Amino acid sequence: MPARQKTAIVPGLAASATYDPGCRRCARLADFLDAVRAEHPDYWCQPVPPFGDAEARLVIVGLAPGMHGANASGRAFTGDYAGILLYETLYRHGFASAPVSTSRDDGLMLTDCRINNAVKCLPPGNKPLPAEIDACNAYLAADLMQLPAGTAVLALGRIAHDAALRALGARRSAFPFRHGERHDVAGHALFDSYHCSRYNTNTRRLTPAMFDAVFVAIVAWLAERRSVAPAARRAAGAPTR
Ligand code: SF4
Repeated sequence: MPARQKTAIVPGLAASATYDPGCRRCARLADFLDAVRAEHPDYWCQPVPPFGDAEARLVIVGLAPGMHGANASGRAFTGDYAGILLYETLYRHGFASAPVSTSRDDGLMLTDCRINNAVKCLPPGNKPLPAEIDACNAYLAADLMQLPAGTAVLALGRIAHDAALRALGARRSAFPFRHGERHDVAGHALFDSYHCSRYNTNTRRLTPAMFDAVFVAIVAWLAERRSVAPAARRAAGAPTR
């Protein structure tokens, strides 16, 4: 088995099927990034790449970069409120090397976990258009379709849930979004959680305990898979530890 990769950026910053730093498929978003870059020349202002472990058994799907968060830092959920609960929870469950993510070069590593987004460019008002979600789904599909069977996918919010289903080639109507639910989709487990946004946490739509319970379920599911089917996972080329 190749050495595990806990790289900061997966698969790297060169154009690939899963990520293209120069993508301008969505003209509205590309133009918006141009305008934001002029105002904030120190910001990332490009599509934000996936972040984490290339061989992860947990892939988290968020919505889109936030203006002063991932769009500024260039790393998913880094620099704004939504990342606080996420990274703290990842750390507590052994997926992150530190409880906070502060910048692209802070040395933080994710183990067995990767974070991706349904939409890789900053949308005005945090609201991507349906056509933009559809356009970016090709990148997410390229990532999710290569996952070995038995991977956990955590969707943060309904848009991420729908995007993950589409990327996995599943019908949306067969798997309605519900916080705390686990759906068995295409050999994977799709877990749903409300998005860990400032709004959801401030209104207590999502509490730290609720979010933690989702991760407890994910860890238990992964542990069960590890104990019952290591040979099958090895045959599929998946990590077994
Ligand atoms: S949102 Fe996705 S598809 Fe649209 S321009 Fe950005 S990277 Fe390309």
